[in-house]
Amino acid sequence: MSSQIPFLELLKRRTVLFDGAMGTSLITAGLSAGESPEGWNLSNGTVVSEVHKAYVEAGADVIQTNTLGGTQLKLKASGLGDHVKKINAQAVRLARQFCPPDKYVAGDIGPTGQFLPPVGTCTPEEMEKNFREQAEILAGEGVDLFVVETMYDLQEIALAVRAVRDISNLPIVATVTFDRKPKGFFTIMGNSVADCARELAAAGADALGSNCGLVSADMADLAPLWRRSTELPILMQPNRGQPEMIDGKQNYQQQPEPFAEDMVRIVKAGADAVGGCCGTTPEFIALIHKRLTEEGLMIRKV
Ligand SMILES: [Zn+2]
Repeated sequence: MSSQIPFLELLKRRTVLFDGAMGTSLITAGLSAGESPEGWNLSNGTVVSEVHKAYVEAGADVIQTNTLGGTQLKLKASGLGDHVKKINAQAVRLARQFCPPDKYVAGDIGPTGQFLPPVGTCTPEEMEKNFREQAEILAGEGVDLFVVETMYDLQEIALAVRAVRDISNLPIVATVTFDRKPKGFFTIMGNSVADCARELAAAGADALGSNCGLVSADMADLAPLWRRSTELPILMQPNRGQPEMIDGKQNYQQQPEPFAEDMVRIVKAGADAVGGCCGTTPEFIALIHKRLTEEGLMIRKV
């Protein structure tokens, strides 16, 4: 831990590389449809830690814990509601296992799967309690930062950021999932990038951005919008193309090369950190690392 530069300081010094998808690698390893990926922290921990290890070897600076669906509400839906503590605590240990002291373990928090009124019936208090519980476990196990990600609803992500901020002073990266509409980029509830930037900064996030939903070319168009909307560091983690369904399985066709070229565009547009979302593998992260290095973009020229 002693050789580690504080995460927010690192973001000022150079481009930071996050890891790629976890679920995609677990599906390849046999995770079945409908099975909780987080459950594998307990049942197949070796597989999970090997995925983390592969991302470290690919050059990722930040490893995200396998806890996207680690709230009680989300785990309950897979029959794992009684194992919130064990699943989240074990996730941090698995991420730390092959993580060198100068790299970072990010406690990953995702949507509860429930909706606030008027769309759903989950109360803000119930949601907040869920995020707080998960964040306390992750912080207790010694994560270096939090990533609140794959959030479609600005209200829910703002609530999650506030809940984490309430219990911890660690850096919080908050990434929103947008749709591309004819008029631009919006959440499913219709919030713009500027709305999200304002709300999430007010909630206490230290870095903002987008992950999931969009492919790399769309994220390359979205990056300048984020850059214009906030002075905070930004993180962009696109999906690997649009998956095609083959034999009932999602199949991602995009190759690493065009993805990595879009990531070069994204960093040139002002992103401070990049990584991958659904469909990406360590091969993608290794190529992004190589291309950003070749372009001189791993070092920030201020
Ligand atoms: Zn994704």
